[in-house]
Amino acid sequence: QAKLAGRNRFCFFTSRMNEEAEARLRMEGELRRAVGTDQFHLAYQPLVDVKSGRAVGVEALLRWSNPELGNVPPDRFIPQAETCGVIVAIGRMVLETACRDARRWVDAGHADLRLCINVSPRQFQDAGFLGHVRAALAASGLSPANLELEITEGLLLTERGDVDVLLRALTDMGIQLSIDDFGTGYSSLSYLERFPFDTLKIDRSFMIGMLERQERKVLVETIVAMASGLGLKVIAEGVETVEQLAHLTAINCDIAQGYLFSRPVPATEIPPLLERVYR
Ligand code: C2E
Ligand code: MG
Ligand code: MG
Ligand code: MG
Repeated sequence: QAKLAGRNRFCFFTSRMNEEAEARLRMEGELRRAVGTDQFHLAYQPLVDVKSGRAVGVEALLRWSNPELGNVPPDRFIPQAETCGVIVAIGRMVLETACRDARRWVDAGHADLRLCINVSPRQFQDAGFLGHVRAALAASGLSPANLELEITEGLLLTERGDVDVLLRALTDMGIQLSIDDFGTGYSSLSYLERFPFDTLKIDRSFMIGMLERQERKVLVETIVAMASGLGLKVIAEGVETVEQLAHLTAINCDIAQGYLFSRPVPATEIPPLLERVYR
């Protein structure tokens, strides 16, 4: 009896593992086929200066709509695209499209607009990366001063000597760098000193219960104070309520991003959001 149950359980596990592996392979195949098609598009979310209430930039966020799989959220397909390397081609498309969109907004009068683009470690480590960035800037005519690349702590963990060199090459070009999802990875505070970041983005998990939980409140306050002491701009991600915004204002957080101001929207909906004053 026990033996039978054990064997059944074993069968159950293997079939579920097979299903997962199959789903992964299927997604991988769809991702590869999707490159160069119109299945990908970018949504943009405004970054709002807390003091003036004006949008000072936008973050480009990738969307994938596949005829077989439907709308797949980035948290599901990006890790997969990383593993199979197709993120390099997708990321190149993101750079080109976003720079082109941002150039139009800059030309429409938002000279200081900051375009934030997420870069995943696999993409960053690709030998062609710097060339892709240069090409996207050249093709769009966007100034490097308008571009900010968002990097996660995972990249810095790779301990490759050339990470330093590449980050320097980017900042030497006049591109800004931010550290994304700060506080969730294996944050080492020494990274903030060692790498040439301009901005620190506090992960949105810190906003959840920030006002109710004293410890969390203290953490956010401390991160903001530390960042500004180091001369870094601070962006709070995932701001959803006026109470959260009021607190962030009180502790001198520079920039806020979240559903309170706007969800990520298609490029066509961005121009009016850049004219608005959020108060
Ligand atoms: P992220 O870079 O931390 O981007 C912010 C995420 O928070 C976005 O999720 C955004 O829609 C969401 N968000 C913003 N405000 C709020 C809020 O008030 N409440 C809540 N609940 N969520 C909010 P999204 O668009 O699903 O993207 C998820 C992640 O996928 C991104 O996190 C980023 O790491 C990755 N990603 C997105 N686009 C790209 C891309 O083009 N390239 C790469 N490599 N990664 C990307
Ligand atoms: Mg980001
Ligand atoms: Mg990110
Ligand atoms: Mg983030």
